[in-house]
Amino acid sequence: MASKILLVEDSETQLKFLQEGLAQNGFEVETAMNGAEAYKKVYSFLPDIIVSDIMMPVIDGYQLCRMIKNVDETKKIPIILLTVLDKKIDGFWGKKAGAQLFLSKSIDLKELIDNINSTIRRYPVSEEYKQTLASSADSDDSAQLRLNNILNDLLMKSVFSNEFRNLSDFLNYERVLVEKLFSLLSSFVEYNAAGVYFASPDDYSENILYLDTLGRNLSKNLLSDISYDFFRKMEEHKVINDSKFEVVRMLLGKEVDFQFGDFTSKIIIPMIFDKKLIGGICFYTRQDIDYSSFRFFDIMISELLTIFKMKYQYTEKEFMSVLDGLTGLYNRRQFEIGLEQEHNRTKRHPSDFSLALLDIDFFKRVNDTYGHQYGDYVLKTIAELMKKSFRKTDLLYRYGGEELVIIMPETNIEGAIIPVQRLRRMIEDYDFNYNGIRAKVTVSIGLTMNYQNFATPADIIKSADEALYKAKESGRNKVILYEQ
Ligand code: GH3
Ligand code: MG
Ligand code: MG
Repeated sequence: MASKILLVEDSETQLKFLQEGLAQNGFEVETAMNGAEAYKKVYSFLPDIIVSDIMMPVIDGYQLCRMIKNVDETKKIPIILLTVLDKKIDGFWGKKAGAQLFLSKSIDLKELIDNINSTIRRYPVSEEYKQTLASSADSDDSAQLRLNNILNDLLMKSVFSNEFRNLSDFLNYERVLVEKLFSLLSSFVEYNAAGVYFASPDDYSENILYLDTLGRNLSKNLLSDISYDFFRKMEEHKVINDSKFEVVRMLLGKEVDFQFGDFTSKIIIPMIFDKKLIGGICFYTRQDIDYSSFRFFDIMISELLTIFKMKYQYTEKEFMSVLDGLTGLYNRRQFEIGLEQEHNRTKRHPSDFSLALLDIDFFKRVNDTYGHQYGDYVLKTIAELMKKSFRKTDLLYRYGGEELVIIMPETNIEGAIIPVQRLRRMIEDYDFNYNGIRAKVTVSIGLTMNYQNFATPADIIKSADEALYKAKESGRNKVILYEQ
């Protein structure tokens, strides 16, 4: 019986030439002009071997190869890939995709036939195997269906990868990253509440569960129930202290009337990398989850894991360094260390130090209007102005995203107010100009000092935070002193 070759080639002249050559040499030849067509024909033609070009539209030779080798019913069919040039990379991918052999397209017909014959001898496809394959494709539709699914998966995967790759631009803007992540997740998964948590290599950091409630206003109880439920799961992998939640994308609307117990399904997935908990995600729904809509869940999770990994490594790198990459100020970790030292020092040798917490006004608007690069430029410029306003002995830190801190040793609050006001005014007067785009920016500042009744460094920060809040509340572009 003649061996059956499925010949796949998108150039019509080449296809004709090979088809005739092979047929004349006693093979039964079926042809296809691209990977998709070929895939369907595998189920009806039941070939002994596939000989395929690599560069083809719709589905190329590698993809065809992977599709064939991925499924039990078809994986035993040997494949020869034909490459245009003897490129090493083709061989590499060909092997990865599971091809038995790859040959140069310029090979002469006799040599090709010898190779086909020896490959068929080495990898014989039994009649029994073909019968199973034939029965697995009871109708033409099922091959088409499989193909559609595979095409969808491929498309989905590339869309996913693209979308997720874009997220990596925001590794240092956690909130933006989270917002973008939620807008992606909500387009793939139906949920009433979803959460994202990035674990930090830094033990000082708070464990924040960011929640998306799709614009619904959930009660405080419900939110903390979710947070509790989620972190309890995370604790199985890591000890977590002081967890709190922050709600992203929750609008002020009418409160929903359901309670935690009304969630009928939940999915909580810890993200583990290198045996470390690097984060987690969760979904809560009020309907039973339709798992058939979860076909892409695995792909999504693996893409998410990549993002979480990058984020973790990014934070780790930041954490290891002393200076903040964007502003050149000392980073958050140095602040924790610096404040603790100053606090201890003044406990031993009583003296005053002041602390100012600065937050840019309407910074979100700056980003939204002019873009993140502009926002970065503003942050950098403000850091430069800070360096100009304060003494060399004052310590300047980037506390959070757009929050900066100044510790002024040996300075009481009356002394501190002078350079702090000067800075506020300098920023107000400054003509921000980046790539010819001009803008005005102001800041709000909360000012405090090491009052006697503050027992811990955290008390000092809290007091600065309170003053800052008042500055915001009372109109911004202000310095407000903490009042005991
Ligand atoms: P408010 O006056 O109340 O402080 O308003 P705001 O918009 O400044 O406050 P909010 O805290 O809501 O927004 C802060 C924004 O700062 C959110 C985030 O996108 C942005 N941000 C944080 N870190 C960075 C950064 O490193 N670069 C840029 N460009 N933006 C950042
Ligand atoms: Mg802020
Ligand atoms: Mg702000």
